Amino acid sequence: MLLRSIHVGPIETNCYLLGADGRCCLVDPGGDGPDILEMVRLSGLALDAILLTHGHWDHHNGISEVLAAYPDLPVYIHKDELFHGQEATPHYFFPPAGDVRTVEDGDTIQAGGLTFQVLCTPGHSAGSLVYLCGDVMIAGDTLFAGTCGRCDLPGGGLEPMMESLRRLGALEGDYKVCPGHGGTSTLEEERRHNPYMRQAMREL
Ligand SMILES: [Zn+2]
Repeated sequence: MLLRSIHVGPIETNCYLLGADGRCCLVDPGGDGPDILEMVRLSGLALDAILLTHGHWDHHNGISEVLAAYPDLPVYIHKDELFHGQEATPHYFFPPAGDVRTVEDGDTIQAGGLTFQVLCTPGHSAGSLVYLCGDVMIAGDTLFAGTCGRCDLPGGGLEPMMESLRRLGALEGDYKVCPGHGGTSTLEEERRHNPYMRQAMREL
């Protein structure tokens, strides 16, 4: 299921490789495309999709190199993370040529031999996504070990972040939390000790 992760790019984004049944998918290929491709190659699995948690540059900066090697891969992202203007911006995903598929809260994605449940968790950005796969929570820049993502960037906000953290905290059971930066955690650990999640859950 969760097979490997590497830090990529200048601010050490976590790029995750997940897979089952001979297939795999990537989450947030944020830079260092050759390293990501090597991770895929070493897995011996057939790469069949890219999932993006949100549109910030540090989560997709390696995508062109991955798509150069795998041109037909579908790329999943929330529509509010797409940039439709002319000039590049670090805050939105400007789709390269490729099969970009927008997803929404409640959708499920079949990728890498696995099923991902899509939760839209605005706060860090308007269309930030959390992906649930078995007992793994791919948390993007919404939930970090001991903290949460910043809320002061375009499309973000503290109120939606609190609502998103409340929602994640209220999920049944426990998950291994795999954030966009920093180390992993568990949802139960965050419910108990993360001050932002604790505050959000007090506001129930
Ligand atoms: Zn971000």
